This record gives sequence, structure tokens and C-alpha cells, in this order.
Amino acid sequence: MTDRPHPRAGVLGQPIGHSLSPLLHGYWLRTLGLPGSYLAVEVEPAQFAEEVRRLFEDEGWCGMNVTVPHKTAAFDLCERHDAAARRLRAVNFISRTADGLYHGRNTDLTGFRANLENAPAWPGVKRGAAMVLGAGGASGAVVGALLELGFAPIRVANRTQEKADALCHLLRDSDTHGALEAWPLERASAGLADCALLVNATSLGLGGGPGPPLDWAALPVTALVTDLVYNPLETQFLATARRRGNPVLDGLGMLIYQAVPPFCTFFSPPTSLPVDDELRQLLIYAMGSGRPPRDSGDWAG
Ligand code: NAP
Repeated sequence: MTDRPHPRAGVLGQPIGHSLSPLLHGYWLRTLGLPGSYLAVEVEPAQFAEEVRRLFEDEGWCGMNVTVPHKTAAFDLCERHDAAARRLRAVNFISRTADGLYHGRNTDLTGFRANLENAPAWPGVKRGAAMVLGAGGASGAVVGALLELGFAPIRVANRTQEKADALCHLLRDSDTHGALEAWPLERASAGLADCALLVNATSLGLGGGPGPPLDWAALPVTALVTDLVYNPLETQFLATARRRGNPVLDGLGMLIYQAVPPFCTFFSPPTSLPVDDELRQLLIYAMGSGRPPRDSGDWAG
């Protein structure tokens, strides 16, 4: 009798050295005592499709996460898509269907949504207006989730307004026609007075720098404020919101929740995954240590 190979998976990106995904998946493998391994794979854009095909030929390979800059290429490569990937035209998770087709999904959207829905302040947030700062790839996932949750209007404010226009155009359909508004970032302060939710989906604030320029005066103190940037965990943007009394939510939860469906597909855990403080502390420690997290290795279960 031959042993089945241990399941293997990974994350493809460039650069990939500081990805927390191996640590995250490694934690769940170890905690649940499951056999398997999860690797970080550095891939240049020109090699992306070839690398995906090559990895799927490896024994035990179950699928991969995909991060910057490959999410659009991953969408183009996949032959089947879930609704979120179709809507965003971006894929962050590839597996194979029973008949061998590449199946692309977008769990950035579901991860952002799950992080919101698990926030202590969430039950008090009414589905009113929302302001989303930024119109890059992550902003699409945020806006897609807010549309699902019934926020309206959703204002997308970006430094390059054409990108906000393009994002609203991509996500607008007959149901959402009036719900999406593209704004220039410098006018965002004028659109805060009726907001129930404010999201920083720009990359400003990463590494401790200032967040997007904003006059906060009009924002209701009941509005939930969240930041996709999670390093540092409390960005200047979140610190400002907390000081003025708004409920706040950091972006680490989005990273954790987006990883749940891929982990379940790759490693078939028998129970639900722990999304607990120990995991958060591990990730926070890895970010603070400044060392690339390399915990995954081969875990024999
Ligand atoms: P992206 O596609 O590169 O978009 C970057 C966004 O930031 C654009 O809207 C860009 O505006 C804006 N921006 C950058 N520099 C700016 C500046 N100096 N002034 C004003 N706006 C500026 O990046 P992304 O993939 O959307 O990611 C955005 C952030 O979210 C990153 O920090 C990323 O790490 C984080 N993120 C977190 C999670 C999570 O799980 N928590 C998931 C995904 C992403 P322009 O269009 O004008 O350039």
C-alpha cells in the first residue's frame, strides 16, 4: 500500500518574502495536528501561468493563494470563477475542479465582510452611507462586500479619480446603479457627515506613516472606522478615529478570514478553524520582529 502524499499549497506573489500566509496556514496545521505544508513562492509576472501549471503537476499540490501583482493574471488563467471573482475580475485563490479545471475565487471580499461582521461594534452599524478611501485592488473587495451588505450610497474617493470612476463602473450593475459614487480624495471630507462606515483602503499608513489626508470634523462618532493596513496594527488613521470616540476595527482580521476558505479546501480540517487571540498575537509578533515569517516548513501532523 502506498502512502498518499501530504497535501501541499502556497502563496504566489512578488515580492513574497514578508507574506504572513505561511505562518497563518502553518498555525492552523499545527494547532489541528494536520499533515501538510504551505510555502511562499516568489514568481515574476511573465512566469505566473507557467508556474501555476507546474505546481499543479507536483504530487500532493492542492492549490494556491495569489497576491500582488498576480490577481488579474490569475483571473485570466482560471476557467471557472466564483461570483466575487467574476464581479471583481480578480482571483486570490486557485484550486482545481473535479474535472481538472482551474477554479478562481476571491476571498478578499468575503474576508473583509467576515471581519466586519465579527466586529464587536457591528450590530450597531446601520446600513447607511459608507466612504471608502482608495480605488486599488483591495478597494474593489471592500466595495463588493459593502454592496452585498446593503450600504448605500458607497463613496469611493481616490487620489487618481479616473481609478475611482473605473472601479465604480466595474462594480455597477442595474441593482447598484445609484449606490456607487466616485469622488476625488481631496474632497472626501465633504462626504463624511452621513457615513455609518469609513474605510481606509489606500496603502497610506503602512509602516507607521500618516494616513489619507482628512478633516474628520463631520464624521459621526458612531461611525465604524476600519483600516486595511494592519502593519502597524493601530495605524495613525485608526488612532485618530479611536481618540475622537469612533469604534475602530483593524485590518488583521481581514487577512485571517480571507485565509479560511483556502485552508479548508487545501487541508480538509475536520473541525472549524480557530480564529483566536493566540493566532493574532503570533502574527503581530512576526510583524514586529521584522523577520520574514518562516514557520510553515513541512508539518507531518
Ligand atoms: P493598490 O492596488 O496598490 O492601491 C493603492 C491605493 O492607495 C490606491 O488607491 C492609491 O491611489 C492609494 N495611494 C497610494 N499612495 C497614495 C498617496 N501618496 N496618496 C493618496 N493615495 C495613495 O494596493 P491594494 O492592493 O489596493 O492595497 C491597499 C492596502 O490594503 C495595502 O496597504 C495593502 O497591504 C492592504 N491590504 C490589506 C489586506 C488585509 O487583509 N487586511 C488585504 C489586501 C490589501 P492611486 O490610485 O491614486 O495611486
